[in-house]
Amino acid sequence: MPFFTPKPMIEDTYRHRGLRQKLVEKLRQKGISNEAVLSALGKVPRHAFFDGALLSHAYEDKAFPIGEGQTISQPYTVAFQSEKLMVASGQRILEIGTGSGYQACVLLELGAVVYTIEYNEKLFERTRNFLPEMGYHPFFVLGDGSKGLRSKAPFDRILVTAGAPVVPTELKDQLAENGVLVIPVGTLDKQKMLRITRKGSTFTTEEFDNFAFVPLLGKDGWNGGNKNS
Ligand code: SAM
Repeated sequence: MPFFTPKPMIEDTYRHRGLRQKLVEKLRQKGISNEAVLSALGKVPRHAFFDGALLSHAYEDKAFPIGEGQTISQPYTVAFQSEKLMVASGQRILEIGTGSGYQACVLLELGAVVYTIEYNEKLFERTRNFLPEMGYHPFFVLGDGSKGLRSKAPFDRILVTAGAPVVPTELKDQLAENGVLVIPVGTLDKQKMLRITRKGSTFTTEEFDNFAFVPLLGKDGWNGGNKNS
């Protein structure tokens, strides 16, 4: 599957905006109720992430391939994770799994300062070049996000957008006081969305729905010796 081709000029037509509003309404019907999150998804031009043949699918509520065996997440998943993260403007967020950069754009639209880590060098290069062309400026990092980003910790929020076999201890350690970590954890086929909140040295875990993400790689990922299936 070829990569999408970055477009220097992003055309955002009346039709695109209309399709985006329909998508937002669909997400509302599916249970997303946080107005700031819905508004953020209503602003990011998802069609800019799609190439040629797939362009007409940009505003369907589906994940799509972006090359290197990876996907741009389903809008519902992006909305669900963003809602569970409980983002406030000005917070410092670490996103693990930059991929296409779509989720990072949503977090930026929510007013966050975003650090985003990608393991795959080609995806990292592509997205680091592409997002600024659209006016989105997270801090891009190439590396193993299962280890977090100790040099920039602590973070108010940490969001993992790949399926993990375990909750990496490093990520909990890098949460600020009252910090929140949202992470899908389970087998290679199915993961439960967890929200972990830090109060001092106490971590509270809430469990939500099941999802199916591509695997988290790296030290505390699927090629680090952890196996649940
Ligand atoms: N957030 C992305 C978006 O909005 O398009 C979707 C992420 S995609 C489902 C998962 C991404 O996690 C892939 O790009 C993959 O290369 C990356 N990944 C997997 N293991 C990683 C790790 N240990 N550190 C950083 N990124 C990782």
